[in-house]
Amino acid sequence: MIMNEIYKLNAKQLSEKLNAKELSSVEITKAFLQRLESEDSKVGSYLQINSDGALEEAKLVDNTRVKGEKLPQMAGVPISIKDLICTKGIATTAASKILEDWVPPYDATIVENIKKNRLVILGKTNLDEFAMGSSTERSAYKLCRNPWDLDTVPGGSSGGSASSVAGYLAPFSVGTDTGGSIRQPAAFTGLVGAKPTYGGVSRYGIIAMASSLDQAGPMARDTRDAAILHDILSSYDKRDSTSLNFDFGSMEKAVIDGQKIGVSGKKIGIVKELSGEGFAPGVLEAFRETVDKLSDAGAEIYEISCPNFKYSIGAYQILMASEASSNLERFDGMRYGKRFLPDSGNVTAETMMSATRGKGFGFEVIRRIILGMHSLSAGSYEAHYGAAQKSRTLILGDFENAFKKVDYLISPTAPTVAFKLGEQLDNPMQMYMNDMATIPANFAGCPAISLPNGLAENNLPSGFQIIANQKADSSMYELAAALEKLIGFNYDKSYSRANGLK
Ligand code: GLN
Repeated sequence: MIMNEIYKLNAKQLSEKLNAKELSSVEITKAFLQRLESEDSKVGSYLQINSDGALEEAKLVDNTRVKGEKLPQMAGVPISIKDLICTKGIATTAASKILEDWVPPYDATIVENIKKNRLVILGKTNLDEFAMGSSTERSAYKLCRNPWDLDTVPGGSSGGSASSVAGYLAPFSVGTDTGGSIRQPAAFTGLVGAKPTYGGVSRYGIIAMASSLDQAGPMARDTRDAAILHDILSSYDKRDSTSLNFDFGSMEKAVIDGQKIGVSGKKIGIVKELSGEGFAPGVLEAFRETVDKLSDAGAEIYEISCPNFKYSIGAYQILMASEASSNLERFDGMRYGKRFLPDSGNVTAETMMSATRGKGFGFEVIRRIILGMHSLSAGSYEAHYGAAQKSRTLILGDFENAFKKVDYLISPTAPTVAFKLGEQLDNPMQMYMNDMATIPANFAGCPAISLPNGLAENNLPSGFQIIANQKADSSMYELAAALEKLIGFNYDKSYSRANGLK
């Protein structure tokens, strides 16, 4: 096979070629590394490329296969990993200067799972610093572009994971989602991206942003690949006190079932507050067309009001910033990463910490630390943190009521398609609005997935979100796979290269 046929294959197809011995992992890995070398400078999806490590693991997998020894199904297939996730021996920066060159001495549990499954780690992907952002423009290292249109953002904060998969620089990738950072970039780049039930995937070794909301999950070009990766990532982990010891079943099986079963008889609720005001006309039109297809195919569609979702963005800003401000206290120049000294005056522990944090953190991170510290301070705690917690409880109540009537909630994933680089950077409120449809699922710990819903404005992809009840991840994949078939979006055929990466 020629190189540009190899990197176009999705993860499942690659594993089939490997298992049939039609391709070796070294051939596949080389195809991706070559493409990375020639094309990634145009997109900026990777912060670290693990060339030697990847080739070494590929060789080991190939040798094992040649000997006829048993290997996991996906052994030898490459993957990219968001640079918020600790990888032993490979620098992990969270796209922050404060962690420049920091090499973790251990693997995150999900990286252990990836290694047990013998996937080949191509490298670490770009993100907004400490996962704070919706465009990946807050990376302290490099600009990240959307492969569909190089003048637009890939979304964020998992924008590097998104652009690596969307630009055929990796078959699939691991992102993290605190308020939408898997789903919104998936929507902007025509991918499938899923946030698992809170506790379904271990957070151990993932640099914490807001611990009560963070979950890692898969990004891929179809539901089958996303499901396969979801199954690999998901495990009970004693090292994460919020990990669920629960049998979620196989997401891959759910996808296969969903493709057969279809959508007939499924009870689905359109979130009234997330299907009108605030969304771009083209995004809404694409959403409504797909809702019509669902109803024509026999799904039972209801309109469900979730009146408290309007508090999502406000409550999220307070709770996320409060948790992030305390999580980021550990970066003090003493324990992790970089140390900066003051430009003048005495060097004391205090002036060193202040210089380290002042120079090591970027603007958006500092803004959120200040907001978080303020919200948690004695004078504002009740008015800010307390009120935000109450709003979260109200939002949970909306979900509880909704799931008495329906099994799934749907909405567009993001209010717009990918916007131009720089367009929202100086307008934090507008940037924060990107997450209006995605935050509620993080608050409730519900699984949620974004599917490509065809092309909308400017010939760019828009996303369709499905939220299911806690622990109903497999049921979510079942509907997602059925809906994917109904929408009929084929990534390869739809991918337009006019303004994008060839
Ligand atoms: N875009 C959101 C934010 O800026 C979500 C981030 C995330 O999910 N990591 O906070």
